Amino acid sequence: MKNLLKKWYKLATYLLLLLAFLLIGFIFFHNNKALNNVISSFFEVAENRSFDYRQVLKTIHSTSVPSKDIVILAIDDASLEILWEKYGEWPIPRNVYADIVNFIEKDNPLAIVFDLMFLKSLKSADNIDNILANTLNKYNNVYVAMNFDGVNPSVRTPENLPDRLALDIENQSNINIKTKYSFANCRLILEELLNGNVKVGMTNVIRNEDGIIRKVAPIMSYKDKYYPYLSFAVGNDCLRADNTKFVIDKKRNLITNNYKIPLTKDGDAILNWYGPSNTHTVYPMYKLMRQMQGKDNVEENDVINFENKIVIIGTTAMSLHDTKSVPVQEGIYPGVEVHATFLNNMLDNNFVKKTDVLVNIGIAFLVILFVIGIVMFSHSTIFALLSTILFGIAYLFVSYYALALYNIWIPVTIPVCLIVVAFAMSFIVKYIIKSRDFEYQYQLATVDGLTELYNHRYFQDTLRKQIEISKRYNQPFSILMTDIDFFKKFNDKYGHQAGDAVLKQVAQILKKNSRTTDYVCRYGGEEMCIILPNTDTDEAYTNAERILQAVASKDFRLNSNETGNVTISIGLATFPKNAETPQDLIEFADKGLYYAKEHGRNQVVRFQDISNN
Ligand code: GH3
Ligand code: MG
Ligand code: MG
Repeated sequence: MKNLLKKWYKLATYLLLLLAFLLIGFIFFHNNKALNNVISSFFEVAENRSFDYRQVLKTIHSTSVPSKDIVILAIDDASLEILWEKYGEWPIPRNVYADIVNFIEKDNPLAIVFDLMFLKSLKSADNIDNILANTLNKYNNVYVAMNFDGVNPSVRTPENLPDRLALDIENQSNINIKTKYSFANCRLILEELLNGNVKVGMTNVIRNEDGIIRKVAPIMSYKDKYYPYLSFAVGNDCLRADNTKFVIDKKRNLITNNYKIPLTKDGDAILNWYGPSNTHTVYPMYKLMRQMQGKDNVEENDVINFENKIVIIGTTAMSLHDTKSVPVQEGIYPGVEVHATFLNNMLDNNFVKKTDVLVNIGIAFLVILFVIGIVMFSHSTIFALLSTILFGIAYLFVSYYALALYNIWIPVTIPVCLIVVAFAMSFIVKYIIKSRDFEYQYQLATVDGLTELYNHRYFQDTLRKQIEISKRYNQPFSILMTDIDFFKKFNDKYGHQAGDAVLKQVAQILKKNSRTTDYVCRYGGEEMCIILPNTDTDEAYTNAERILQAVASKDFRLNSNETGNVTISIGLATFPKNAETPQDLIEFADKGLYYAKEHGRNQVVRFQDISNN
């Protein structure tokens, strides 16, 4: 029982040490900003990559398909060539866009969205700009793009934007858009558009550190007011009746009438991708130009009807460089399809939601617990290893399906690292427990519980081994057989408890007066036996005399207030002088002991002393 307690005490010490290390590590990392940055950005990059893989896998299995109601009217490479041939310049004259809008509006589209900027600074002839502005302002469903930038106000004076463009937002969350996405300046578009009837949205994109776009800020701030991302403005009008007020609730959902966009703590919406470019319905501009010239110019299945469609006009031509890096496509992806994706996420209500910190901590905790469980309760290493690997794979599947089915981004990198660390740690702890357990079992099998000397079996084994060793190296060795004198009487007089106490103390004296290379064993009852390797009779005799003196002169503590005295008798035999087998050696030492008892006790008797008689 005492040993068992000792074992758990030691295990607890190990665990405390481990905890202390973790704590020190935590404090160290916490206070070391550079290291902290390296580690956290490593995890961030790895986590983002794992998200990309999930996105790609999801698009391969087409778990979500983009809406046919969104049509991208693309100025692709072919269109660009034809337009350039026709107008001899790029950008094409702005009145052409007016013609396009008029043409599309005949079909009654839901919205026409220009992912193109009619910059004030690229002003063409007044009458051309007027044609464009008047046409676009004529309709209630035309959107144009604008851009904020960070140009220093000392270079370019920040312009005031008309009030009609700003959003009214009630922010109940802890997101501070003004610190996250606030811009110093803007690039103005035509004044007639800014102050007219068209709707204006921003096209600023947000990249992760690796340059890839995974998120969009639906709301940005400029001069203390809020402005919408272009496709957020479109989606908002198309999906709800009143668009005067927005609420960001305490759970960081950007709420409008009948849907909500989950935002990150920075105020981003994480995009859910539908596939590489051209996954959305893409209709090339040149086909529309042909339609405009007369239906005869277009093959029948190339004719498109824009009724109730959201038409996004933008460039996809490689030479126009409006391309982004996104998770679902290596290298390039047209910016206009980022807008299409955002809009589609609004339609499908499937923005990606990241699990929040508390959930992540819970996941980490469960993962660690599960792996510890696997390691602790499995009987073989290979089973534990395979189960842990299987668990890791299962976790990856769960993380994939969480995204594919529920649009939830659960962390992968840290939990997977935790699985590895928890496996290694619990393996080490299990090994420590096991080795301590083995030590304990070994001790039980070889040590006597009362005297803490080696037990009878150990004595026999060692004696046999010692004979082999002595033969091999041609060395003598001796054994001392000891027995307490009149111990029965002692027990009778003082009680068995006192007898036990004396037995223990005699054992200690024997140990103390022996070399560390000697084997002090309890032979049985109150008889003890010492094996003295590489020791001849004379040396052993001196040793035995010393032990005898030590016992005789000791005041043994019997209980808290009583002491008593005992003596011992010792028989001595030496290998190979007196005997060559274990049985004979024991027998002859016993004979010496018997002789000592017969002749007054409290003495050492060598076998040679009596065999010579
Ligand atoms: P002597 O050896 O001097 O001839 O007399 P003795 O009375 O010691 O005789 P013997 O060695 O034959 O007696 C053994 C006694 O030792 C019997 C028993 O009362 C006592 N004894 C043996 N083992 C234990 C033990 O574990 N605890 C206690 N308290 N007494 C023990
Ligand atoms: Mg005895
Ligand atoms: Mg005795």
